Amino acid sequence: MPDIVLFHLDPQTLFFLLAVLGGLIAVVFGGLWLQGVGRPATGPWALGHGVAALGYLLSLGRGAIPDLLSTVLGNTLALAGGVLILKALYLRVGRPFSNGGALAGVAAIAVLFLVYTYALPSLPARIMLLSVCAGALLTACAAAQLNLTGERRTWAHLFLGASFLFAAFGQLIRAALTLESPPTAGPFGEPMAYGLSKTMLLTAVATWTLSFLWLITLDLRRTLEREVESRRESERLFRSVFENTANAIALGDAEGRVILANEAFARLLGRSPTELQGMHYEEFTHPEDLGDSQAVVQRELAAGHRFARLEKRYLDASGRPVWVDLTLSQLKEPVGPGIRHIAVATDIRARKAAEAELEYRATYDALTGAVNRLHFETLLEQEVGRVDRYGSEAALVMFDLDHFKAVNDTHGHGTGDAALREVAALVRGRLRDADALARWGGEEFLVLLPETGGDAAARVGEELRRAVAGTRFAEGVAITISLGVTDIRPGDTRKDLLKRADDALYAAKHAGRNRLERIVGHHVPSPDTE
Ligand code: GH3
Ligand code: MG
Ligand code: MG
Repeated sequence: MPDIVLFHLDPQTLFFLLAVLGGLIAVVFGGLWLQGVGRPATGPWALGHGVAALGYLLSLGRGAIPDLLSTVLGNTLALAGGVLILKALYLRVGRPFSNGGALAGVAAIAVLFLVYTYALPSLPARIMLLSVCAGALLTACAAAQLNLTGERRTWAHLFLGASFLFAAFGQLIRAALTLESPPTAGPFGEPMAYGLSKTMLLTAVATWTLSFLWLITLDLRRTLEREVESRRESERLFRSVFENTANAIALGDAEGRVILANEAFARLLGRSPTELQGMHYEEFTHPEDLGDSQAVVQRELAAGHRFARLEKRYLDASGRPVWVDLTLSQLKEPVGPGIRHIAVATDIRARKAAEAELEYRATYDALTGAVNRLHFETLLEQEVGRVDRYGSEAALVMFDLDHFKAVNDTHGHGTGDAALREVAALVRGRLRDADALARWGGEEFLVLLPETGGDAAARVGEELRRAVAGTRFAEGVAITISLGVTDIRPGDTRKDLLKRADDALYAAKHAGRNRLERIVGHHVPSPDTE
């Protein structure tokens, strides 16, 4: 055996060093456990080293304190600490560990120490017991690491396992030396064997602790890598959904600036997603819808709703209006780079166009573009009401194309249609914006002239008659119209007026056509104005 000073350290110094080292490890790993690092293994690891350190402290008192404490309890605690360390290593690799079995083992050893201290006192027996048990424990600790296979085993595991194996080897030497020359009595009576095994243990504790830290660090790195990977994965997922959805989505900041817009949103506005970045939504909102949309959004969100839904017009890159159904969500907390709004827009241009078409058809005649009968009745009713209320002037003109049947018969229905359209357009062109032209029947029309007295209406009618008579329609067809004019007077009903206009028209037809007749309404005084 080489003459190295470490091998000659006196037992008390070694006990002391082991106790101090174990205590430090307990404190440091206890702290890590409290902070949630390396759980659950760091718990029993810290506790094991602490308990063993306490055992060594008690052993240090041999001769000075009762044997029950220094020998029985001291050795038992040192071994119990080892059991806890084994448990820590099992927890790390996910191997089942029987607490009950471990406790029974420790209790049995305590009994044996009692026996070899009091009933059959024997120092060699106690040393053999201790080194055999410690050797077995350390070997089990080593095996827990060295058994690992494949990816799970790293250099840190090998280093950790080797440290335990080294310490176990120290115990083997100790047992062998004890068998060869049993120590004599005395509290620390086995200088050579004792020193060597304890020195090996001391070295092993230092290396296994560092290896254990190494393993914890590797675990942390793996957790971190997994975390980063899962973030990347969710980022990829978000991107994929964001880019591949048919919905146009824009994410905006608290002020309403676009932070991120997807392809569908950009396409809707005829721009690129990058072009949209940083643009304020007002820059691509139809000016007429600016106030409206702000009001709706503010009202909805103020009422505590998580979404505001509205129909509005955006403007695309070339300034064309784009009708969208917009759902706007406001986030309580900003997400990512200050995202506070999520706007999801659906293109409703087709629906809006269809609605406009329906609305047009509900109001206008398809062939001539004149107001239809239903809508004209409403207009006439309103005008009658106005005349009643304010005593204002107004007049109604009814006209019908003369001998139009003959036009159809001679030139065909298609030419008849074209002529009808052109007559309506000519008349419409000669009226004021406030006047209304309606197609009342097949080739019978009504004109409502607000703010127009009967004389003025007759003049307008006469102009219309002359204009029609002086024009060739549908590439050469001559057409005349007959007209009936009547004043709208307070007290007149819609029915009265239509009757009078019709009578006047009939009179015009009867008098030879291509002429105008007027029937002045009879003023019916109401009882309270008289
Ligand atoms: P008048 O009014 O001068 O008495 O003679 P008319 O031949 O015009 O007689 P009336 O007004 O009674 O005849 C209506 C004719 O108008 C019947 C039909 O051939 C024609 N007509 C009505 N609606 C349409 C239409 O939408 N298209 C075409 N091409 N012809 C129509
Ligand atoms: Mg006719
Ligand atoms: Mg007719």
